[in-house]
Amino acid sequence: MSTAQAVVLSTRTPSPPDGAWPFAAGGSAGLAAHLAAYGPLPAQRPGAGLVRELELSGLTGRGGAGFPVWRKLTATATGHQPVVIGNGAEGEPRSQKDTNLLQHAPHLVIDGLLAAAGALAADDVYLYVRADSADSVRRALAERPDGTQMQVVLAPHTFISGEASAVVNAIERGIALPTDKRHRLSAAGLHGRPTLVHNVETLAHVALVARYGGAWFRGTGTPDDPGTRLVTVSGDVRIGGVLEIAGGTRVADVLRACQTDPAEVSAVLVGGYHGQWLPAGELGAALSPSGGATPGAGIIVALGAGSCGLRATAEIVGYLAGQSAGQCGPCMFGLPALAGAVDLLAAGRPPSGTTDRIARLTTTVAGRGACHHPDGTGRLVLSALDVFAEEVAAHTHGRCTAVVGRRS
Ligand code: SF4
Repeated sequence: MSTAQAVVLSTRTPSPPDGAWPFAAGGSAGLAAHLAAYGPLPAQRPGAGLVRELELSGLTGRGGAGFPVWRKLTATATGHQPVVIGNGAEGEPRSQKDTNLLQHAPHLVIDGLLAAAGALAADDVYLYVRADSADSVRRALAERPDGTQMQVVLAPHTFISGEASAVVNAIERGIALPTDKRHRLSAAGLHGRPTLVHNVETLAHVALVARYGGAWFRGTGTPDDPGTRLVTVSGDVRIGGVLEIAGGTRVADVLRACQTDPAEVSAVLVGGYHGQWLPAGELGAALSPSGGATPGAGIIVALGAGSCGLRATAEIVGYLAGQSAGQCGPCMFGLPALAGAVDLLAAGRPPSGTTDRIARLTTTVAGRGACHHPDGTGRLVLSALDVFAEEVAAHTHGRCTAVVGRRS
């Protein structure tokens, strides 16, 4: 698969009341341009005000899980001395949206953090970002009198560094590895205090809802998937990059926006490396939690007609198997075995029973790790076996239909 050609932070949304465009105050906009575009952030008071607007907005988390934002805020609000963390780790190799946002509109993210912190009366606020976003964030904080309590913590560029418990672990102990998934961070997170961890794109939306209200947010998108989201498009597309799209936008339309004819695409990976393959016949599905193409962390990777879906999957699973710290059994033994078996299948003429073994391994690793890394990897593999079923049969007999198709 080819890689993204360009990074474009664009918008397809109606303007907020003052005429500014969401997420588009301008490349690396300073505080003055940011305030001119969006106006001042209204002061937040602890209590129901922001929570009510967020509930009305229907905003869900843009980091992958898609949990209602107001619920997370409410769950954290019940404890003492809460902590608020903006998560810009963006460990997904195919995602550029969070880094793009932090580099082009850092003040919007900071506004969202301050709004959430104000609603929770939280004094401890952290921004957890990769090294390539840190300079723009620090520059933005230096411009603001209200950002002095915010601490910037560097996130390592690994796949699992952005998992919520890994974020807390990194800030508390300098170890960006997940801890027990049964632990609710809203009850006991950083230093045992109730902790709210939100993806930075989510916080940018919070900043806009805090200014313009939940009804404004619902003015774009669909009733089931209101507002907009950022998506990173890469793979076999003519122009890749970061787009802002309305909720409910069809996958085929996202491809067209990238100047790519959906008819030239054989499948699309939706949601990232823990996402699922969508076959060519289903590209009319909406990129929304209820639309048939769950957006996850807002990632679309197009597979061209001449690319092999099994080879693409084998490369991803090989990468994922190498991204755990080997803390848990399924990652130490299960994922390397799974990656090896998928690679054999992708190579063609695998040993007899390889496909059954792959399916068994996805079941064996599921639900047994301290985080969802093995489960997400297994889900991706199962979706590949399903969507590329014809390819699986061809590879079993030593043929690759994608390569044959490309040569004909
Ligand atoms: S399941 Fe894997 S990735 Fe998750 S904590 Fe355990 S070893 Fe690490």
